[in-house]
Amino acid sequence: MHCSKCRYQAVISLQHGNLCKKHFIDYFEEKVFKTINKYQLIGRNEKLCVAVSGGKDSLTVLYLTKKYLEKNNIPTTNLTALAVDEGIDNYREHTLVDLRKFCTEHRVPLTIVSFEQELGKTLDQAYPIINKDASKKPCNVCGVWRRYLLNKHAKRLGVDKVITGHNLDDEAQAIIMNIFKANTALAARLGPTSGVQEHDLFIQRVKPLYFCAEKEVRLYALLKNFQIKFTECPYSKEGYRHHIQEMLNEFENKYKGTKQGIVNSFLAMLPLLQNQEKEMPQTIQQCSKCKEASNKDICNACVMKETIENA
Ligand code: SF4
Ligand SMILES: [Zn+2]
Ligand SMILES: [Zn+2]
Repeated sequence: MHCSKCRYQAVISLQHGNLCKKHFIDYFEEKVFKTINKYQLIGRNEKLCVAVSGGKDSLTVLYLTKKYLEKNNIPTTNLTALAVDEGIDNYREHTLVDLRKFCTEHRVPLTIVSFEQELGKTLDQAYPIINKDASKKPCNVCGVWRRYLLNKHAKRLGVDKVITGHNLDDEAQAIIMNIFKANTALAARLGPTSGVQEHDLFIQRVKPLYFCAEKEVRLYALLKNFQIKFTECPYSKEGYRHHIQEMLNEFENKYKGTKQGIVNSFLAMLPLLQNQEKEMPQTIQQCSKCKEASNKDICNACVMKETIENA
């Protein structure tokens, strides 16, 4: 298999042709930078925080955000990294080692906050208690607390935007999950930039890897020699998302371009969904316990925390 551009040995076969290592890296970086420019994900004077875990997606997006800033002569002093340690035994501690090394090597300041410190329990301890009371999967608990802490600490760090490593596969899965669950309000918050309306209590999240397939991110991280372990969270197979992921992978294997098709169709519909949501805005208030944003008196993170405290 030869590269369609230079005839060197190809490392990947894409819909538009085969690419060698050099041409794949160029193609991948150009795609990310084009996404940033097209959707105005990064502003010249903005303070940025990359949400990192130590996995391939977050390290790739951190590396390329820094490269984008340097390429455009934007000071990298406005760039910081924020990680949430959920407390997942035999998994997160390893990815955090990789993360610390990476941030030191690339000179990006890193802040790590943890479920245990902030909410009183690790995910491993909290999940069985919450599951018993409210039949929640680990990813439900993890997702609520992780988004909560990211938003809370991004505000504390005074950043304008949180950059995440969500890729095309993640987005296609989220779109299908929301369609299957008839959740148009949540679907309207997807896209390369999160949210429907700006609000002081929420920091906007943006996704430079939006059009990069998971296999492309994996290959990029490998070719760039990022020192990561490519391990999976032990809970990842327990959630609804995992079934959607398997289904989409099966479809993609049979019908190439399925995931891209889902995302493209969704982007065509997104303005309609967003207009619909703007017409019936949800009232955002402060949680009466923690003063963070909530759409009810007590936010979901505090409800789960209370369940644990009362157990
Ligand atoms: S797979 Fe689920 S439990 Fe594991 S880190 Fe992701 S959201 Fe959390
Ligand atoms: Zn080539
Ligand atoms: Zn709260």
